[in-house]
Amino acid sequence: MRIPEQKIEEIRSSANIVDIISGYVQLKKRGKNFIGLCPFHQEKTPSFTVSDDKQIYHCFGCGNGGNVFKFLMEFKNISFVEAVEEVADYLGIKIQYDKEVYNERQSELEEYYEINLLAARFFSDCLLKSNEGEEAREYLKRREIKPSTQRIFGLGYAPYSWNNFLLHARENKIDLNKAKTLGLIDINDKGEYYDKFRQRVIFPIFSPNGRVIAFGGRTLENRDDVAKYLNSPESPIYSKRKSLYGLFQSKDEIRKLDRAILVEGYLDLISLYQAGVKNVVASSGTSLTEEQVQLLSRFTKNIVILFDADPAGQKASLRSIEILLKQNFDVKVITLPQGEDPDSFINKFGKEKFDEFLYSAQNFIEYQTAQFEKQGMFEDPTLTAQAIRELVRSLSLLEDELKRSILLKSISKKFGLREKLIETELNTFLDQQKQRTQAGKNVASKNVKLTPDLSAINLIVSENNFEKEIVRLLYSGNEEIVGHIIDRIAPELFSNPKLKKLAEIAYDGFNEHKFSPAYLIDKIQDEELRNFIFKLTLVDETISKKWDELSYNGKIEKDSLEYTVATVTNFLVNQIENQIKRNNQIIAESKDERLHLELLKQNKELQEEKKSLLNQIQKR
Ligand SMILES: [Zn+2]
Repeated sequence: MRIPEQKIEEIRSSANIVDIISGYVQLKKRGKNFIGLCPFHQEKTPSFTVSDDKQIYHCFGCGNGGNVFKFLMEFKNISFVEAVEEVADYLGIKIQYDKEVYNERQSELEEYYEINLLAARFFSDCLLKSNEGEEAREYLKRREIKPSTQRIFGLGYAPYSWNNFLLHARENKIDLNKAKTLGLIDINDKGEYYDKFRQRVIFPIFSPNGRVIAFGGRTLENRDDVAKYLNSPESPIYSKRKSLYGLFQSKDEIRKLDRAILVEGYLDLISLYQAGVKNVVASSGTSLTEEQVQLLSRFTKNIVILFDADPAGQKASLRSIEILLKQNFDVKVITLPQGEDPDSFINKFGKEKFDEFLYSAQNFIEYQTAQFEKQGMFEDPTLTAQAIRELVRSLSLLEDELKRSILLKSISKKFGLREKLIETELNTFLDQQKQRTQAGKNVASKNVKLTPDLSAINLIVSENNFEKEIVRLLYSGNEEIVGHIIDRIAPELFSNPKLKKLAEIAYDGFNEHKFSPAYLIDKIQDEELRNFIFKLTLVDETISKKWDELSYNGKIEKDSLEYTVATVTNFLVNQIENQIKRNNQIIAESKDERLHLELLKQNKELQEEKKSLLNQIQKR
């Protein structure tokens, strides 16, 4: 028998873990937490810790830990359902097992899907049938998108008006609050709803199985103060990091050809598809995320990256390559002729020419080499060394040893270097990676110690205390704090893979309005990471000395919003400073004047950004 997830949440959040555990273990208050002798292992000094505000427990001696249900399961040797029932009983909460309640969460999601479907149909009707739609029809005609293709991708139009969709939504009696969550409407200062998408061509974003999960809208206004693209926000049914535009339409072809072509924009994808190149997905302008790559790997492990020739496109493709390599993709890259994007290219030259281009795709080493060549790196010995090192680093990301050795040979040939030399370099990178993984494992093995060992935590994250502090705050259980962080820090910004994983779990939880540590701790599969979070959230000591120096002399509450704002700022400032440092290092090592100027300019911009961040915090 299953208990509805919402009910489980209700029971968990109504129970107080301190009350329940007190029934079995004698607890004493120490600082913010309660401690006692661990019931799971023999000990004379208490290392069993229970947190009232986090609603979790953890023994620093034997490593046992979790939420209230986990405690009862372990202590009484009962199942999860029995533990939930016992807590419910204690609280006097009745559990209904009937089907309707069980599906509550599912039906709530259904409602979101319904609203998006209604909106997609509305936009599509506006494009195909309305008078105002003429402007959009003209636009798509200019871009050479046929009506049949428009239908395949469900394109639409949001007319210029503040309440067109709103009226339609009201007529259909949909939950306006939910429509707001989906980003279709918003609310103004006077408390009135208004349409978010106005005078825009609409590109619905589908889940792999064809449900409308979000929208992208391209403006038809020629105004600088209007964003060219407007996209739906994250919602209970949409996570940008996890969806790939076009996958629903292209997945069969991708599977059939066992290869995907990756482009940047909606129209790039649609134009290629229309021209018969149907195994294509779009990253929507940013570099790929790990989750997107994971999703794609269900269909193929071969990818050709086709990005614009502009610097932004190049940068995005370099970042994407790294993520793809880490997940063992076979990566090739095509650079289009200067001034062309996939959309313009296919319209000008057709599919045959495009296939030729596809055939000439470079492997990622060739591509990176060409990039470095373009930047003039091989005209300077120091930079050449740097470039080769960068290539070898990419190589080290490959897990396939055979592939590595083939590419190693090609690098050695290309630069006339002895293979042995490159191999040594490669091994250095591989060792570094191993050490990084090892450092993480050390934390787990140190769990047997009886006192919390901070050095173990510091071992895996010594290079970035702010990052660690941000993660601690993400597990603070405070909605405002977690929201503030999520609004300002993209998960990609976390450099430590373990911290990043933990951040992502918190971000995912937040999408479903769940942020209590007692909930999140169950979502962490990796035991080592779970233990890390226990330590981070339960140990009441100053973790980051450096932070305290930079903050207001430790005067503010560590779990307050004020502290969070300062920590987030410090985190971002720290990122900027590191970038400036890296730039300066290159400047010191290189003789390329053009590069100097470019980096100096970049540094100046970074300084400005830093200043504005620090100003904002002072104003508060
Ligand atoms: Zn214990």
